[in-house]
Amino acid sequence: MEIACLDLEGVLIPEIWIEFADRTGIAELRATTRDIPDYDVLMKQRLRLLDQHGLRLPDIQAVIDTMEPLPGAREFLDWLRERFQVLILSDTYYQFSAPLMRQLGWPALFCHRLEVDGEGRVTDYVLRQKDPKRQSVRAIRSLNFRVIAAGDSYNDTTMLAEADAGILFNAPANVIAEFPQFPAVEGYGALKDAFRAASLRDI
Ligand SMILES: [Mg+2]
Repeated sequence: MEIACLDLEGVLIPEIWIEFADRTGIAELRATTRDIPDYDVLMKQRLRLLDQHGLRLPDIQAVIDTMEPLPGAREFLDWLRERFQVLILSDTYYQFSAPLMRQLGWPALFCHRLEVDGEGRVTDYVLRQKDPKRQSVRAIRSLNFRVIAAGDSYNDTTMLAEADAGILFNAPANVIAEFPQFPAVEGYGALKDAFRAASLRDI
């Protein structure tokens, strides 16, 4: 029995913070872990910026609601779900991802959670656990499932390594060069082929 694990941002949807920064015109929100390596410092800055601009959770969700999954993502996900149980493993937050998950047909999602006060102000963030993608794959394998995983970036590589088969999808050249042990594919057609090749079944 096989389970497919997918990263979310960069695989099925655009990078939420970057899109959100562009939609709101708040350039400082474009910062990622590449600019500020300490995730806690980065998230504190993001929450401070939301506050400064008076953006509460409903305002943020309204902006995110105008975003769409990547072209072809829904069709690919539907194809995959006909062949595997699919689990999305992401470092986003449930409250941010909701508008986009609706457009993807609400697949199962393991991610993190924001703390929000009675007025809708985002006050803090709660990471579900340390190294969550790897721990999720490890747990699923302990239930006697074979795992095929796909992701696009550094924060996916421990998940890909822990899986029975790992696939890099639309990854930047530096990630592909650093992790030559994983097949690297571009586009959903090639990703389907990679899942077919990784599966022990004839799918
Ligand atoms: Mg990603």
